[in-house]
Amino acid sequence: MTSTPPPPTPPASGRGDLPDRLARAITMAGPIPLSQYMAAANAEYYATRDPLGSAGDFTTAPEISQMFGELIGLWAADLWQRAGEPDIYWVELGPGRGTLTADAIRAMSRVGLDPPVHFVETSPTLRASQRAAVPYATWHDDIAQLPDDRPVIAVANEFFDALPIRQLVKAGDAWRERLVACQDLLFLPIAGKDVPASVIPEGLRDAPVGSVIETSPASVAIARALAQRLMAHGGAALVIDYGYDGPAIGDTLQAVSSHQFANPFEEPGSRDLTAHVDFATLAAAAGVEGARVDGPVGQGAFLTALGIDPRAEALARSTPERAEQIAADRARLVDDDQMGTLFRAMAWTARDWPIPAGFL
Ligand code: SAH
Repeated sequence: MTSTPPPPTPPASGRGDLPDRLARAITMAGPIPLSQYMAAANAEYYATRDPLGSAGDFTTAPEISQMFGELIGLWAADLWQRAGEPDIYWVELGPGRGTLTADAIRAMSRVGLDPPVHFVETSPTLRASQRAAVPYATWHDDIAQLPDDRPVIAVANEFFDALPIRQLVKAGDAWRERLVACQDLLFLPIAGKDVPASVIPEGLRDAPVGSVIETSPASVAIARALAQRLMAHGGAALVIDYGYDGPAIGDTLQAVSSHQFANPFEEPGSRDLTAHVDFATLAAAAGVEGARVDGPVGQGAFLTALGIDPRAEALARSTPERAEQIAADRARLVDDDQMGTLFRAMAWTARDWPIPAGFL
């Protein structure tokens, strides 16, 4: 008697097999641009887990304290009132667990602002967490799908740092695009083809060998599309992230796993890959579309201007047993040696809208 062999095990459902898939693709078609590697790694990373919080890989401002989302809600409500209380949409890009929006809505509703909520989020896992926090939200994969019949107030906290970057590396006399090659399952950065010197900003062309310049075409495209929307339909966007004023020399690609820095070229899809945000380039992109740009200002100064100190005192008075924790959370968000100056806030506003609070 012959026994039928068991059917072959179907490939894993996408979970955990990204290194194999990337390795196969690179072996067959050659090294890929860093931007493609980062996009694939982060799509897998965010699709397969909730990375936030002390048990996860990293913690963000809205997860540190409810004060963060509440103050942003008050920021939005103040702007909305000064704009004449039009019907608006609330939009968040990359909302994580939905905590910021849930806290903001609570604060906004106290002054009568209860806008429909639209989330731009690609991860099914995080969409489920967001649904638990804000059940009536509407989800979109892309900002192009947002409705366009009202002004929007949009927020993006630690969103742009997760978007893919290109890196250009000075090698000999030329600048080359950084590619990712693969040997067995080991990924490694290599220098690809020369790029024309004209794409390198003049002041940086003579940088020493080994210098790296980063650009994020995906971020610029989103900044422009969002600014176009603000110009066409009104509203404002608030971007909060860590970053610098570029273009500049510097390799900021980093991987974080369990609150520790890790090698970005190991285990793609299991670590959060980020890069510092080039605020000056994003500002220029929004400005090209005609939006007014305010900031960036340090997160500490921004939250202080919005009233984090009286808010922390009020919270401590109403829950004295948590007073110490509230003071520690406040310090973590605003102190210079914590998130206060590393993180910065920038606003883009339609020309006929008022200047947002925190930038006056
Ligand atoms: N804003 C949240 C989460 C930051 S993590 C917070 O501050 O806690 C980055 C978020 O952006 C996640 O929700 C992630 O799934 C989402 N994201 C990353 N790349 C994206 C993309 N290309 N399009 C839409 N969302 C994306």
